Amino acid sequence: MSFRISLLAAAAAVSIAPIASGQERTEFEQQAREIYRNVVEVRSARGHENVPKIVDYVVGELKAAGFSDEDIEVTDYDNDGEATQGLVVWYRSPDPQDKPIALLAHMDVVDALAEDWVREPYKLIEEEGYFFGRGTADNKYGVTSLVATFIRLKEEGFEPTRDLVMVLSGDEETGMVSTRAQANWVAEEVDPAFVLNADAGGLGLDDNGEPLDYGIQGAEKTYATFELTVTNPGGHSSAPRADNAIYELADALKKIEAYKFPVRYNDLTLASIEAAGRKRLDRLGNAQRAFAADPTDEDAIEVLRANPATVGQIGTTCIATMLRAGHAENALPQSATATVNCRIFPGVGIEATEATLKDVVGNEDVQFELISDLVESPESGMREDVLAAVETALEARGVTDVDIIPHMSAGGTDGMHYRNLGYDTYGVGGAAAKQNDTFAHGLNERLLVSSFYDGLDHFYIILKELAGPEEG
Ligand SMILES: [Zn+2]
Repeated sequence: MSFRISLLAAAAAVSIAPIASGQERTEFEQQAREIYRNVVEVRSARGHENVPKIVDYVVGELKAAGFSDEDIEVTDYDNDGEATQGLVVWYRSPDPQDKPIALLAHMDVVDALAEDWVREPYKLIEEEGYFFGRGTADNKYGVTSLVATFIRLKEEGFEPTRDLVMVLSGDEETGMVSTRAQANWVAEEVDPAFVLNADAGGLGLDDNGEPLDYGIQGAEKTYATFELTVTNPGGHSSAPRADNAIYELADALKKIEAYKFPVRYNDLTLASIEAAGRKRLDRLGNAQRAFAADPTDEDAIEVLRANPATVGQIGTTCIATMLRAGHAENALPQSATATVNCRIFPGVGIEATEATLKDVVGNEDVQFELISDLVESPESGMREDVLAAVETALEARGVTDVDIIPHMSAGGTDGMHYRNLGYDTYGVGGAAAKQNDTFAHGLNERLLVSSFYDGLDHFYIILKELAGPEEG
């Protein structure tokens, strides 16, 4: 499917260029920045059990804006010994005309270590036109934009024509225990018409900050994590044996490193790769267009495989992410274990992927164990009302004449659990970013300051479009 929508508004496209700091901000913008600061500055990574601090803070803000106890539900979860929480907030319609809309974001982050970062990771720092800090992009901007939008609409006295249910999860980056429970709860208690996720989708910018296109996440790859283990009788390190668990595991990992999974594509990925390439004149753009025209083009495949932003779009990827081995510096290792994380292309399946990895490794001493729960999620068919609402939001933000492109996300988000239960789920985040510029999960994560403020209207407009009274 291709969903090429040209946004032809009278207004000229406005550049999302960095705005000088010190510019006057509206009261709402300042309030949103304060929410952002408060949630970024909580170290809500696994191992710290700080998600409840975010919940407490957000609940306080929502109550101050007029949400009642009956509108707010806080739930405790245990993710493999780690306490976390989920938060559900109902924005009730006085007279519902339609099934509800569920809105997703996650409060947890991948941990960041201060010694590795240039700036303090758990402090919101505004510098060089960016907000720096862990979670500034993934996903505390999503949390901020949903919470701030609920507060803004409530304070304006907005009465939705259908219930809006905000669902914030507490362990999206690790076990998704809260996500899974919340998705089941939403299916039973809310049964929404569809789900909007603030943790995916967004406006792509070129290197000059000009809008390229807007991506809606309509599908996700399957997330699967394996542990590969080699065991050995071990012994004293002064008397080495010929076989060694660490060397054997290292050999297996080097084979996985060298292996490229076969190229895969579907209508949605070809359309999104083609659209992404249409506005780029560089080598990557050439490769994207060439691949969309002929997915067997070896030169194009090579370029797309070499780029972290595109490699996941053309097939399954499996990559080593963690290692543990040995028990003493003067002992031969009795075991060595590597964690290998796979993002499986829709339709390939987990068994086939595991079989491929075993073939590649070619050593029966290497034991495979699937340690993640498998969640296959089908592609969500596009909805005209959602596309139209996004288009209206972009126009209102001065972004015109860009394509809205449904895409498959290589990462795993909360959305897959909702798709798995049969709910169409769309990643429609409000942020704008240049390619490879947010460093989500990595060092020095950041978000353009201009994008922060510009994107605050995004869900506000989308919700007014999808849950507001008909304009007369
Ligand atoms: Zn995320």
